[in-house]
Amino acid sequence: MSDITPFDLHRMVVGDVPLWFAAEIAVRTAVMYLYALGAVRLVSRRAIGQLSLVEFLLIIALGSAVGDPMFYPDVPLLHGMVVVTVVVAMNRGITELLNRSETVERVVEGRPLTLVSDGRMVPDEMDQAELNREMLFSLLRVEGVRHLGEVGGVWMEQKGVLSLDRLDPDDHRPGLRTMPPWDVETPDRVGAGDRAGADGALGCDRCGEVRWVQAGDALPACPTCGGDSWADAVRTPDD
Ligand SMILES: [Zn+2]
Repeated sequence: MSDITPFDLHRMVVGDVPLWFAAEIAVRTAVMYLYALGAVRLVSRRAIGQLSLVEFLLIIALGSAVGDPMFYPDVPLLHGMVVVTVVVAMNRGITELLNRSETVERVVEGRPLTLVSDGRMVPDEMDQAELNREMLFSLLRVEGVRHLGEVGGVWMEQKGVLSLDRLDPDDHRPGLRTMPPWDVETPDRVGAGDRAGADGALGCDRCGEVRWVQAGDALPACPTCGGDSWADAVRTPDD
């Protein structure tokens, strides 16, 4: 690289390749963009944070296209500009399609996931959101939710944020408690087949299905999800 002549305009702008190699770069960029669009769907929403998937893709696609021509002598400016132009054009195109078609939106960005419905967790949807109970409860604590009976529903939006349907205090039902964290204070648990130690409400460990029991009742497996462990549920936030 010592034979580089600084400010050699031909090398800076076009490089040591035929001018029309820029066309190949445009095609490569389009293919990589679409490939990445498919692949990024598999990245968890929380990893992407507040950005939409298309915004996230725009940022990673522009990253090296902008940076590389800045300091690699063998990456000419033209090639970087072709990539930036194609990426921005594809972003415009995809955004336009997303705004026009709900089908495209569902394919590209997915749909909101129902994590909690009627005070019960929805294990299948939680799997899709790559959330286990601890992670979900941690997200709910951040929102100030003390137990599952406080919310009618919880959804994870396409942007990775939670939306909550908080119930009026009068409508609170018994539910698995989220506060304090179970790692800090483990709730009492009863296994399926064992007998309840006291009267009260118990929630299925796995889905949060609530069951009223009296001391001495034998506990079944959870009728909703087949879970085999029950934890103390709270009746109201003040319990
Ligand atoms: Zn269950």
